[in-house]
Amino acid sequence: MPPVSVELKKQIKAANDIVDVVATYLPVSAAGKVFKAVCPFHNDHRPSLQLDRHFQNFRCWACEAKGDVFDFVMRFDKVEFPEALRMLADRAGIALDATANPQDELKSRLLRVMKWAETTYQQCLLEEPVAATARTYLGDRKLSGTSVRQFGLGFAPLPGDWLVKVAAEQRIPFELLAEVGLIAPRDEDRGYFDRFRDRVMFPIRDVRGQTVGFGGRILPDSPYAARGPKYYNSAETPLFHKSELIYGLDLARHPASAAGHIAVVEGYTDVMMAHQCGVANVVATMGTALTLTHVTQLRRYAPRVVLVYDADAGGMNGVDRALELFVSQDVELAVATLPDGLDPCDLLIRPGGVDVFTAALRTAQDALEFKLNLLWEKESGNSSVESMRRIVDAILGVMALAPPVPSQAGQMRQELIVTRVAHRLGLRQERVWARLAELKAERRSKEQQRMTEERRAEPRPPATPASRSASGQQVIERQLLELLLAEPALVPDAYATVPPETLTHTGLRRMLDELYALHAAGESPDLDALRVRLIDRPDLAESALRLQEVGRSMTERPAWLGRIIDAFARMVEEAAKSDVKREMASATDDDTALALLKRLQGGGK
Ligand SMILES: [Zn+2]
Repeated sequence: MPPVSVELKKQIKAANDIVDVVATYLPVSAAGKVFKAVCPFHNDHRPSLQLDRHFQNFRCWACEAKGDVFDFVMRFDKVEFPEALRMLADRAGIALDATANPQDELKSRLLRVMKWAETTYQQCLLEEPVAATARTYLGDRKLSGTSVRQFGLGFAPLPGDWLVKVAAEQRIPFELLAEVGLIAPRDEDRGYFDRFRDRVMFPIRDVRGQTVGFGGRILPDSPYAARGPKYYNSAETPLFHKSELIYGLDLARHPASAAGHIAVVEGYTDVMMAHQCGVANVVATMGTALTLTHVTQLRRYAPRVVLVYDADAGGMNGVDRALELFVSQDVELAVATLPDGLDPCDLLIRPGGVDVFTAALRTAQDALEFKLNLLWEKESGNSSVESMRRIVDAILGVMALAPPVPSQAGQMRQELIVTRVAHRLGLRQERVWARLAELKAERRSKEQQRMTEERRAEPRPPATPASRSASGQQVIERQLLELLLAEPALVPDAYATVPPETLTHTGLRRMLDELYALHAAGESPDLDALRVRLIDRPDLAESALRLQEVGRSMTERPAWLGRIIDAFARMVEEAAKSDVKREMASATDDDTALALLKRLQGGGK
């Protein structure tokens, strides 16, 4: 975002009256010259929050919260200043200077085209005869018209050029629609075709409620049902990062704050049905397991995250990931199971289902307890030394894999887990600690062994000026992966310019290879897909998580990538030059040396 002038800030503040803005969040009542509301920042029972139109500020007499309209939005929506500014600018219809930053300009163009597509698909679903089957499908799933409107559902009809035609009529640029992955160019310049056909369209919104992507579900009776995936997403763009987004979070975050916990289910319709039934603190990931990025976001709204575990659909993997996060992060993570292997949608429409669902969320077991119970079941209550050892190792193995946690909270978490495992299995705590130390040592020595082997297998870098900057090169290699993991939409750029063999670090090179392979296979080169491919290298899968975290804190990632690509180009050139210099030094006749000198001066090979 470009720097915002004091003038513009004033203008945005002036256009957002504090009483009007607060009234969009809370009931506000007039009290003489001022206005009052129940304070959302402490457990208030009478209206302690005072709003003053004259001074354009708020103040709570009980908890001392105070500030202007920006402060209110920042505190209530848990956002930083730039986001609060943008929200209020949007609200007032003031354009933040987008032309100053081409990246922002692109983003707002993408947002506009997404909004257009959402409206277009929705109109089709609600009004067009071609959408009759889709309407029946949603009706069969007991989703109400109100829910369909609230979540902005739409329909992409069967003909392969429906959206292309509507876009042409309304003069929507094809390039933009192609960029967000809703249409694609045909071969040999023969126009464009729709990428979503015969699918119910679920807008995927960011935390502010702006549509940034679509998930399309094929109709069950579609002629395409057998050929394509059941769900299909629009493209990764600067707006849409599948591995970061959380479906329904825009609607669930305030109810989650109030409830103190937020539930994560698997399907879009599960989220919709929960909201329709009045359980609004429910979200879903985009068909991926819960990641650190998800948990970091969710924790902003509620201290407790409840994973609703689906016994059938490979949910086990999700539970293991949840346990990993539980071990290494300071977050309360619990796992809820629904009766009879039902998914939330089917349970909620049963008589009394809502109560069963909310009870399951309330009584969810924390991730460790859940895993312990599963392991216990697997050993069918057999308390032999061997089965105890298997259980202990399964739990401690995850702990040993987790990144070292030097923080006090992390240490307390470890102690808590060891105490509980020991208690549950009737073992002495010292034994459990000792086994954990053993596993950690095993892991370290395996890592060292692998590193030594890799170093041996690695051709030594030439002793040339290039090797002096070897550590500098590894910094750049690491930054490349940080950027690509944080923003998978950048992978095609790197793919076109940075060959994997230019990377000297074997671990980073492996990650880059896999990202390129995903991209080449037409899959999204995101962190979750990468982790699946790194199944043989849990250490790399772990570092990928950390690299992504760092990358996500970098701003202006496309510009960064540009600089890194330049740096790689320079390094390749340097390396070529030093090769020539070495050849020259060992050249036995003048002619060869002269030819080499010419190559060097030519700057190329
Ligand atoms: Zn207060």
